[in-house]
Amino acid sequence: MLTVSNYHYIRENYKTNYPSVFGVTPCQFKEQLLLLKNQGDFISANDLTNNADIIINSKENFILITFDDGLKEQYDFGLSILNSLNIPALFFANSINYDQKKVSTVHKIHLLRSIISSDDFLKSISKIDTTKINNINTFKAKEIYIYDDEKSAVLKYILNFRLTFSEQEKIIDSLFLAYYDESAVLNSLYFNELNIRELASIGFLGSHTHSHYPLGLLESKDIILELQNSKIYFEKLTNTTINTVAYPYGNKESCTNEVAEIAKKVGYKIGFTTDRGVNKGNENKLLLNRYDCNDLVGGKNYRI
Ligand SMILES: [Zn+2]
Repeated sequence: MLTVSNYHYIRENYKTNYPSVFGVTPCQFKEQLLLLKNQGDFISANDLTNNADIIINSKENFILITFDDGLKEQYDFGLSILNSLNIPALFFANSINYDQKKVSTVHKIHLLRSIISSDDFLKSISKIDTTKINNINTFKAKEIYIYDDEKSAVLKYILNFRLTFSEQEKIIDSLFLAYYDESAVLNSLYFNELNIRELASIGFLGSHTHSHYPLGLLESKDIILELQNSKIYFEKLTNTTINTVAYPYGNKESCTNEVAEIAKKVGYKIGFTTDRGVNKGNENKLLLNRYDCNDLVGGKNYRI
């Protein structure tokens, strides 16, 4: 069987004016790896790609460590800890950060929310487009975002449910430009091309698609572009074959059967969702389950 533990941010300090970025510290990461070590054998992406059926159907527990979003801190902190323990991993990056030198909208939102309150964020949106924030069903927003305060729930609801992707990008882009220098953020937030090449050369690189959209909500032609462009881009950049993909968000809406079929068709061998669960053999290999690290031993949501 196969247990996958997924990480995003890994940094010493998460202090911001408004909490918007969550993750593990390097110390927590190392401690969790040591706990996981007692629960099975770590495997590499190449092991999994080459022996998927044997690994997933085995009675033994195999563990794969993955990181989403191609963040520089994953290279700086995550990789050195992994190397010190001799544990392989798989890092999923978005090609838009290199191909178009753009910061992903999801990260622009994280960064903006770390310095602007939800209330001010809503006021800024209303200055750009009032129509989108009128008549919001606050109750529904709170029902979806149960862990958030009311203003934050409404903000997330507007961004994710009231705006089309292009409307969302237009609003976020104009706000982001007012507060940040995009090329400086690109350099500090993401792997550089050397990091990408090094990760690929040791079999540690996978695709997180081109632009970090929830694929299942896109038209077929755009799903193809998102999956194919990033595979081809990273393959050309690294002169390797990219066999694995982690679908952004990874929930049911993002990871439909059509998405899995297209991923297979454009050449991926293995695909990861964020559905919690151990893979035991009946799963579609293009839709494998993957735990958030918080849900596994040593994580903050872990219950025995
Ligand atoms: Zn992501």
